[in-house]
Amino acid sequence: MRPIPSDSSSLDRLIRRDQLEAVRKSLQQAIPINIALGFTGTLVAIQAGQGRAGCIWFAASTAANFLRIGLCRAPCLGLAQTPDMPPDAAAAAARSVDQHLRLFVAAALFSGCVWAFLSLLCGGYTSAQALFYLTVTCGITAGAVTHGIAYARIPSAFITLPLLSVAGCLLYAGGFDRNCLAFAVLLYLLALLRNTTASETVFCQASRLKNEARAVAKEMQTRATHDNLTGLLNRAGFVEVGEARLARTDRRLCLLLVDLDGFKSVNDVYGHKMGDRVLREVASRLEAVLPPGGCAARLGGDEFAILHDAGETDEAPTDLAARLIHAVAQPFESFDAGRLGASIGICTDPAESLTQLLSYADEALYAAKKAGQNRFCLFGNRLRARLEMRRDCERDLSHALAEGGLEVWFQPIYGAGGRTMTSLEALVRWQHPVHGWIPPGDLIAAAAMAGLTESVLRFILEQCCGMLLTLQDRGRIDLSVAMNISPREMAQIAVDEIVLQRLHALGVPPTSFEIEITEETALDIEAVRDKLTAVSRAGVRVTLDDFGAGYSSLASLRQLCADRVKIDRGLVTGLAESDDARGLVQTVLSLGAALNLEVVAEGVETPKDLAALQALGCIFMQGYHLGRPAPAAEILAMLSAVRAA
Ligand code: C2E
Ligand code: MG
Ligand code: MG
Repeated sequence: MRPIPSDSSSLDRLIRRDQLEAVRKSLQQAIPINIALGFTGTLVAIQAGQGRAGCIWFAASTAANFLRIGLCRAPCLGLAQTPDMPPDAAAAAARSVDQHLRLFVAAALFSGCVWAFLSLLCGGYTSAQALFYLTVTCGITAGAVTHGIAYARIPSAFITLPLLSVAGCLLYAGGFDRNCLAFAVLLYLLALLRNTTASETVFCQASRLKNEARAVAKEMQTRATHDNLTGLLNRAGFVEVGEARLARTDRRLCLLLVDLDGFKSVNDVYGHKMGDRVLREVASRLEAVLPPGGCAARLGGDEFAILHDAGETDEAPTDLAARLIHAVAQPFESFDAGRLGASIGICTDPAESLTQLLSYADEALYAAKKAGQNRFCLFGNRLRARLEMRRDCERDLSHALAEGGLEVWFQPIYGAGGRTMTSLEALVRWQHPVHGWIPPGDLIAAAAMAGLTESVLRFILEQCCGMLLTLQDRGRIDLSVAMNISPREMAQIAVDEIVLQRLHALGVPPTSFEIEITEETALDIEAVRDKLTAVSRAGVRVTLDDFGAGYSSLASLRQLCADRVKIDRGLVTGLAESDDARGLVQTVLSLGAALNLEVVAEGVETPKDLAALQALGCIFMQGYHLGRPAPAAEILAMLSAVRAA
């Protein structure tokens, strides 16, 4: 983004340009009058027997006028100058404006000189026609001043000689009346000269105000469409440019959405000032690899966009994405802010609107982010189907919730090395009429998008409480129920109040209830600490789910008030075949023993997994081999069958 020049030299240049423009315009209006008056003067001269001199004078006057018309029409580079011109071009433009103004002054002087010779046609203002010529001279000089308000030197150059000639002739002829008249003409000349400078000052002030107002308007427009920090387009500017490009139907656009990996920790570790520096540096790196005709924007936070015409470059979008990732990954030379990564979502598919193009690229970005750092992903049929699925879910979820389309299934969790059931994990289920079974993570995300997070949470809680009440009725107070709560639910909803109040209202002991949270919950620890403390104090058990899939830090165990950890099924499934996995599971089991935490292994799929876990001394486990998630009725039937047996 080039800054809008508001310094006085550039303003002066623009004022000069306005002056030249006004001079050209006013002269084109004034010269026909000049010719007409000159012609009348010639007719009067012919009538007075001065035909030859009159015609010569008229020829000279017309030549001067044509010269001035020619100047008005001559091309001038400076008239096209704009406030944001590069300095060299602006200086050249200003020089050409000054040159034209000087030529106009010279031409005005020449024309004035011709008018000074009018005295020859009336015997130095002594003949009978003197009154006519005197009136014409005064009229034309007054007219020149009225028209020439933009640039005082032009009317001054034009009027001085004719009026001096009048005064000189009158003085030369002598006599009281003529001397007084000469004196009056000189006063008149002085008044006109003063008037020209005053008018020019007023004109320049008006022009200054106009140009300043334009600069402010442009600045405001620039601020509205550009990002203050990086100078790239902001979201509004990007939408404007993108929509304009999309409107040109011959264009096949390629959009890359770039999201920085690890930027949050730059802000956390090095502070926001460094974060800003990093964003500026990344912006300039993105601009450096921009394809021809491409535009770059910062859409917000650490998200950038690059839009370009796919037809204008031979480079494949995936190659461009790889170059972008490489550019972002380079260490920063002038400061230390660690290394960054970038995830990129690419869309080259035709889209009906920019919003659609953005949503396609966003879907690809989401997939790239999920795949890990420094990855790119191209939007295609698979992602299109996923996007449609998510959209339909968002749209249909509230109906499903109201009409009983949502269910909660339960999966048994076993103790005693997989021999006795100790609890049930509640898992939400939704069979969408078009897309079939929706993965619970997508359902929870759709609920968030549709503003239904709390309703879904309350629904699942109700089913969990229902199960606990039924278990109570059947004398199975030894079984507890675990409910999954996502980081977003935990942060955004008063989970503690809702859960404790419901358990209390239904007479369910909090000790038979459990919540499963994941490590990402600790990312917004300020928002969740009090809630976790409240439920934990009331006796609700807190389990840290998917342990081993993320950072698995001891800090998060402490921060999240965990009573239990669940080893991620990625470590458990196929345990018998992997020494590494066995080592890790062993480590978590030892950690649990040291910290007095129960450890549950999830994802026990085969008898071999079970045997390996038993050999490691794992007590609590869950998995398809032991029991799959099933509707409440099936689980209850199974429990009855076990009891009967
Ligand atoms: P999770 O809490 O780790 O849940 C366990 C997931 O592993 C469940 O998948 C379960 O069906 C699956 N699973 C259990 N045993 C095995 C096994 O032996 N092998 C394999 N491959 N998978 C097994 P599900 O139901 O698809 O849930 C996936 C995730 O969705 C859950 O992971 C949980 O994070 C989330 N989720 C499920 N239900 C809810 C809910 O009601 N609320 C919230 N917020 N999240 C939920
Ligand atoms: Mg779970
Ligand atoms: Mg899990």
